[in-house]
Amino acid sequence: MTTVLLATRNAHKAGEIRAILGGQFRYLTLQAFPHAPTVVEDANTLAGNATKKATELARWFAAQDSGRGMQDLGFLVLADDSGLEVAALDGRPGVHSARFAALDSGLPGNAPDADNNAKLLRLLKAVPMEKRTARFRCVLALTPVITGNVESASPVCYADEFEMQTQLFEGACEGRILLAATGPGGFGYDPLFVPAGFALSFAELGEDVKNRLSHRSKALANLRGRLESFVPRNLQ
Ligand code: IMP
Repeated sequence: MTTVLLATRNAHKAGEIRAILGGQFRYLTLQAFPHAPTVVEDANTLAGNATKKATELARWFAAQDSGRGMQDLGFLVLADDSGLEVAALDGRPGVHSARFAALDSGLPGNAPDADNNAKLLRLLKAVPMEKRTARFRCVLALTPVITGNVESASPVCYADEFEMQTQLFEGACEGRILLAATGPGGFGYDPLFVPAGFALSFAELGEDVKNRLSHRSKALANLRGRLESFVPRNLQ
């Protein structure tokens, strides 16, 4: 059975991914690997951060494996990065969604959801409802744990093998930003985001509805076919 190492310590996110991808794969999260490195998400794009997380962790797992055959048994690392892109703010907060409010103070690390939401509402104060369009976007990076003697896939360049084996999958969910937060559920910008075709925020719609519409679920739907067709090396 293909094993997917979810590159997250966030139980909420891991649960969401499991619920959407289904039970045909075996899942592990970083909770099971307390010594795994914490990857700094300092790339300028969602794809850059997702790739950085997946490749650094796949390299770390390969080093732990010392030839025991993770690759043969079909181990892959799955990392994601997502963010909210608001049209009236030229795509901000985007890759900085988690630390949007912290950008002002210059402090490192993420900001509380409430602070990020308050900043977003402040910046959109003069923007009328019809111009408050936004989208959540998610990029997933899938990297196989390559062990043993890694031979470069390319004879003409020294590109990192883990990066070359990485595949990216995307999903987006269009919608708009409310004038005030509504709803008790969800996380992040959920109380401010109403998906297109609905009148309630993600925080009001509940997990089942969100998991059918969300950027993450669309990216995971694109990825599922790749995982289903993945053949571990010992079966090739
Ligand atoms: P991450 O890459 O999924 O951890 O997302 C980075 C940030 O984007 C989060 O801290 C949230 O602020 C925001 N975000 C991403 N996905 C969602 C979502 O589904 N709902 C609300 N906010 C989200």
